[in-house]
Amino acid sequence: LDTPIHEAVLGGAAEFGDTVALIDGTNGMSLTYAQLDGFHRRIAAALAEAGLRKGDVLALHSPNTIAYPAVFYGATRAGASVTTVHPLATPEEFAKQLADSGAKWIVTVSPLLETARRAAELTGGVQEIYVCDQAEGHTSVLDMLASTAPEPAVAIDPGEDVAALPYSSGTTGTPKGVMLTHRSIGTNLEQLRPFIPMEEGDRILAILPFFHIYGLTALMNAPLRSGSTVVVLPRFDLAQFLAAIQTHRITGLYVAPPIVLALAKHPLVGEYDLSSLRYIVSAAAPLDAELAEACSARLGLPPVRQAYGMTELSPGTHVVPLSAERPPPGTVGRLLPNTEMRIVSLEDPARDAEPGTDGEILIRGPQVMKGYLGRPDATADMIDADGWVHTGDVGRVDEDGWLYVVDRVKELIKYKGYQVAPAELEALLLTHEQVADAAVIGVYDAEGNEVPKAFLVRSPGAEGLTEDDVLAYVAERVAPYKKVRQAEFVDVVARAASGKILRRELRDREKTDHSGI
Ligand code: ATP
Ligand code: MG
Repeated sequence: LDTPIHEAVLGGAAEFGDTVALIDGTNGMSLTYAQLDGFHRRIAAALAEAGLRKGDVLALHSPNTIAYPAVFYGATRAGASVTTVHPLATPEEFAKQLADSGAKWIVTVSPLLETARRAAELTGGVQEIYVCDQAEGHTSVLDMLASTAPEPAVAIDPGEDVAALPYSSGTTGTPKGVMLTHRSIGTNLEQLRPFIPMEEGDRILAILPFFHIYGLTALMNAPLRSGSTVVVLPRFDLAQFLAAIQTHRITGLYVAPPIVLALAKHPLVGEYDLSSLRYIVSAAAPLDAELAEACSARLGLPPVRQAYGMTELSPGTHVVPLSAERPPPGTVGRLLPNTEMRIVSLEDPARDAEPGTDGEILIRGPQVMKGYLGRPDATADMIDADGWVHTGDVGRVDEDGWLYVVDRVKELIKYKGYQVAPAELEALLLTHEQVADAAVIGVYDAEGNEVPKAFLVRSPGAEGLTEDDVLAYVAERVAPYKKVRQAEFVDVVARAASGKILRRELRDREKTDHSGI
């Protein structure tokens, strides 16, 4: 796969011509494939004329819009590495990413301009801030479309040159800049294609953010490469999301577990016509099998397909193929082509785990990142000398080759020598009718034992639900060592944009609560 990512994705754009590539789900504005192709070339020309050179880093700081892909591919065509930025980042967080990535160029949108300006002031080194729409004193991407500059002729080495520099979610620590080459991203698209084929006529809803590698791959690169139509929403709002499915006759959904939860449980879902949907894919965080089943049964759909991956793996390694009629409940899928996996013992990582038992997932393949930017030590911790990525996730494979992800190695709770997976307890808690959301972490009890503690959101009208009710509910359903031993009610369970529970925040909060601060 030796084409730059903009060629790999937009190589067929001329052929799709007048097919609609992107629709803004908030106002109906749209772009055809011919426009997207032309626009990204003009943007590349204008950026090159402004002085952007191969290897420069451009920070793309925007919610999902129909302009996002044109800017992304325009920048890579001009030779830039694009570092995608969370649109809700604070100026300080954004400044850190600018400094860490050495970004010289920012493309933002007018509502976020102040944040971008302050971030640029904090770091220095940013040469120019562009806006996608209009703002005084800033060149607009719209002006770039009128550029008469020649298209730059940049020689890209797909195996070496970094196309995207996303930051990992920061679930376990500080987000790290992940260097993904044109080849690693393009190869992963190729690997995913047979499992989740997309084609002209498919209508995909871009509800997860493009800035995260899951959205970038599943909602931007994959559909735009295949002539599908992508309907773009800037943020998740359940009513707007359901209305968009109905209005645009969406055929495929790529979501994270919290949206599956909403689809399975929320009363609003019944008020919309969702009959155009053919499949749902969920990834990025553990999804409970019962919840998945409740969702597909309610919508009259085939089982929710899971996929597994991580930013460092461009991102996919496992997917449940659309063609699988009855995938076993709870599986995250089968290994993609040209990818190797080992499951190693948690006690002795030098040894493979017994077949069918839990161990750490190791991955090797062409989708492995080039490394973490500027962090050779972290890179060496992640990728060993033989090229195996140590994912930090616990999983097991059944005799038919289906993978099940249990949880992260570091988040397993060690109760008196037993391993307890918080994700399993969270899934069980969600089966309680009066529990709207749940998160579990390990805390220390008075005797110094690590024990599972649940943070719970009550369902509407469930004010009577008590800690004892919940502890009893779990105790009746699990082996004694897995019992939840403490519970606390909260208003909301904090999640990252990719849908992951921020257990780290709960741990910090526990520490503060008990240190008398
Ligand atoms: P950081 O590495 O910065 O701590 P992160 O690991 O959450 O953050 P991502 O690259 O966005 O950053 O997420 C990858 C992780 O998401 C995987 O390592 C795994 O723990 C989890 N994950 C992804 N897909 C699934 C899935 N289908 N089931 C369970 N967990 C999943
Ligand atoms: Mg990670």
